Amino acid sequence: MLPGLIDAHTHLLLQGDITAQDYDDQLLKESIPYRAIRATAAARTALLNGFTTLRDVETEGAMYADVDLKTAISRGVIPGPRLFVSTRAFSATGMYPLSGYSWELKVPDGVQIVDGVDNIRRAVREQVKYGADWIKVYVDRRYYAGEDGRLHSWVNYTDEELKAFADETHRLGKKIAGHAIGWDGIDAALRAGFNTIEHADGLTPDLIDRMVRQKVYWCPTIFVGAYVAEGRGGIWPRMVEYMRVAFGEAVRRGASPYISYGTDAGGYAWTEPQAREMSYMVRYGMPPMQVLKSATSVAARLLDQTANVGSIAEGRFADLIAIQGTRSRTSPAWSTWLRHEERRRLQAGRAGGLLGSESVSCFTAEAQRRGGPQRTTLALFLCGPLLLCSSAPLR
Ligand SMILES: [Zn+2]
Repeated sequence: MLPGLIDAHTHLLLQGDITAQDYDDQLLKESIPYRAIRATAAARTALLNGFTTLRDVETEGAMYADVDLKTAISRGVIPGPRLFVSTRAFSATGMYPLSGYSWELKVPDGVQIVDGVDNIRRAVREQVKYGADWIKVYVDRRYYAGEDGRLHSWVNYTDEELKAFADETHRLGKKIAGHAIGWDGIDAALRAGFNTIEHADGLTPDLIDRMVRQKVYWCPTIFVGAYVAEGRGGIWPRMVEYMRVAFGEAVRRGASPYISYGTDAGGYAWTEPQAREMSYMVRYGMPPMQVLKSATSVAARLLDQTANVGSIAEGRFADLIAIQGTRSRTSPAWSTWLRHEERRRLQAGRAGGLLGSESVSCFTAEAQRRGGPQRTTLALFLCGPLLLCSSAPLR
């Protein structure tokens, strides 16, 4: 039995974008209602994967559909994890897809484009008004290997603009996540006072130490980098190695309490395993128990939700999952479960049929009978005995 897992970096409104064409097709050929329907399936998949809480870090052109998803889940209209959403995200003019189309065409943007300090403050207020729990900013792009051996990048905003993002977000009582892959982007996000850094393949010892000193959390998203590398080409295959080195160094320097589980699911198809990130983290040097914490208690701290999720204790929501495996010092249950991951995919169809909506409503009814004030959150592991729990506070 484990606390429900937390994934602090997902895109429910995206269905994989290895290439720019994959991305453009979704924004140009799929309506936002259609993308929202697909997102309801992704939300259910996340739950079936054992993830009972997600921080979803932008809709990639689907406007505020994540807020609607969150509402539908919290009202029990559809099954899904607890959501913390960041709506449209921000980048500057010319620095985010879609790009490369004729200037005569008005094509959709994958983010809300905003430039200049005053506009930024107003735009942050607008996203918060429409339901953003988090603000997400694309801090950098155009990653390249420098002669100093570091992974560098071009920063999308001036220091004043980045500080305006962070300041306005904090003034409204929210927190801010920065996509920063290269050294320059990470450096800029840390100087501006961002709360979390996303990806950060270019982390170096100096940046890691600054990150920890500032209590900034890091979602490495290792698996997605490896997954898209070949298809994207260019610098991407080399970035896999930068990430491996950065992650190992961060663990050695004691940054683990600030390394949160985050997959970027949606950046790869939701049909791929959401727990694959765990095996990479172990392989890159993090002790297995710490990996488990990264997807529970650490991610709960990132979300400021330790009173509600991320541990099994009195008063927390009963977001629980059960996994198959024997409990032993050398092989805790969850690592057995990891080994079963491949087989799980094969069994998913059968088990999915076994636990359809009937089971969901049955457990919902059970939760209501017990007087739980919240709707049921369902978590199943398809590889073993299945279990589901209500989200009523434990008593
Ligand atoms: Zn992402």
